[in-house]
Amino acid sequence: MKSLDLLVRMLLTVLMVGMSPGSSAITEERPNIVFILSDDHAIRAVSAYGDSLIETPNIDRIADAGVRFDRAYVGNAICGPSRATTLTGLHSHANGFYSNEWSPDFDGHQQTMPSLLHKAGYTTAIIGKWHLYSDPVGFDHWEVIDNMFEQGTYYNPSFRSPAGIEDATGYVADLITDKSIKWLETARRSGKPFLLMYNHKTPHRNWMPGPEELKSWDDETRIEEPESLLRDLESTTRGRREARMTIAEYMSNNDVKLSMDRNLNVEQSKLWEAAFDKGNRAYKASRLTGDDDVRWKYQRYIKTYLASVQSMDRQIGRLLDFLEEADLMENTLIVYTTDQGFFLGENGWFDKRWMDEVSSRVPLLIQWRGHIAAGTSTAGLVQNIDYAPTILDAAGVKPEAPMHGVSLLPLVGSAPSEWNRDLYYHFYENPGSHGVPRHYGVRGVRYKLAYYYENDEWELFDLVEDRADQINLYGTPGYEEITADLKQRLQAIRVQYGVPEEDPEVPWYHGPLIRLIEWLLKQL
Ligand code: CA
Repeated sequence: MKSLDLLVRMLLTVLMVGMSPGSSAITEERPNIVFILSDDHAIRAVSAYGDSLIETPNIDRIADAGVRFDRAYVGNAICGPSRATTLTGLHSHANGFYSNEWSPDFDGHQQTMPSLLHKAGYTTAIIGKWHLYSDPVGFDHWEVIDNMFEQGTYYNPSFRSPAGIEDATGYVADLITDKSIKWLETARRSGKPFLLMYNHKTPHRNWMPGPEELKSWDDETRIEEPESLLRDLESTTRGRREARMTIAEYMSNNDVKLSMDRNLNVEQSKLWEAAFDKGNRAYKASRLTGDDDVRWKYQRYIKTYLASVQSMDRQIGRLLDFLEEADLMENTLIVYTTDQGFFLGENGWFDKRWMDEVSSRVPLLIQWRGHIAAGTSTAGLVQNIDYAPTILDAAGVKPEAPMHGVSLLPLVGSAPSEWNRDLYYHFYENPGSHGVPRHYGVRGVRYKLAYYYENDEWELFDLVEDRADQINLYGTPGYEEITADLKQRLQAIRVQYGVPEEDPEVPWYHGPLIRLIEWLLKQL
């Protein structure tokens, strides 16, 4: 009987290994994963990073309980492409989603982190912003905010799921959190480890604060201006001069709350008017022009942006409270990051896209009790290609095909000094909103070199002396060797990642019109 028992055990072990391809952690309890992704959240609006314009006590809880990455970047600072990289661990050219505006819909049938976890026995969900147009693949449960360009609305958003379209009532961050907690209640009882991708819309343009922030709105207090708010871009590159993203010229009345969003209900409209009407009347009476007008618009912009972050931060706190109360913190790896940074008035700009520090650098916080020391930080260069490999490593799941990124667990364990790498960046979305030229570049620890190949313009920045990308050193005497070295490294990293010499074709049939037709069909 003993040998029969042994045989059955051996057979069961073989079967279990067969059921969990690539999993090396069958005998250990695998961690749950909560991946929190916000939208356009600049480092200067996260208090865990210090020198912040705002307090974010709940996001900071993750930093306090884990590690803060001080040099985390994305490889293409625009919403959909960054999300595709998060899912695949691949740069844009390899996952096929390189533009919000004209890439074909994301191919969810390629290898993704959620699909691999799902195959390895995880129960998986994505709730909130998706922005990749195809239906999510690899998720047991998905509910994503929906409208024509998949941005969703701050108030009374629609959600798309396998059940169809739901027109919800309320504020988007609250609704995404309600749905996430509801799903977690079920997932924790499934007997399986879970992956939740908890994806906020906030603080994407048009920066609409939640009801609590409207109730306590203060139109008088002034927020500090960035040094370069009124910068004259005349002496910079053609690309920077021609980009359409200045607060002065491209911020709409809706952006600065001089006109109200149409989709608020009666109660929400009252809160909105009570917050902004008095200030709007004063602005209109004052007839501001020039720099004074930019300054006023900057205040409206930055204050609504920061208030939106606070609305989201409170909801993140609710989700963390739930995990604490449900006794799930011990074995849950929690990530906080965003799809890219954002210009908060630097260069007189809003929006993202550039390889600049403010737009390509992101907050990245990871907690995992018992595995990552609390309250630590690292200066290692990391990128959004690394998220999928890191999560899979924690779950003991090996990718079936190579990813561009690497697991960050060794970096936050013991040997950061051996962490030596460059980062690759490539922005493709021109033609596109804001007219930012295509560019690629390489970033090392100290220097960054970018090539704007449509204009044949180069930029070289010293990130120790000039953290804000203000002084282009390209062509400056004394930088010849540094430039030559970076050009070599740029070529090497393009070869390493297999970047094609020519950009992928912009499909003639694909663009905003097709997006509109596709969206209308989904509403049927
Ligand atoms: Ca974004």
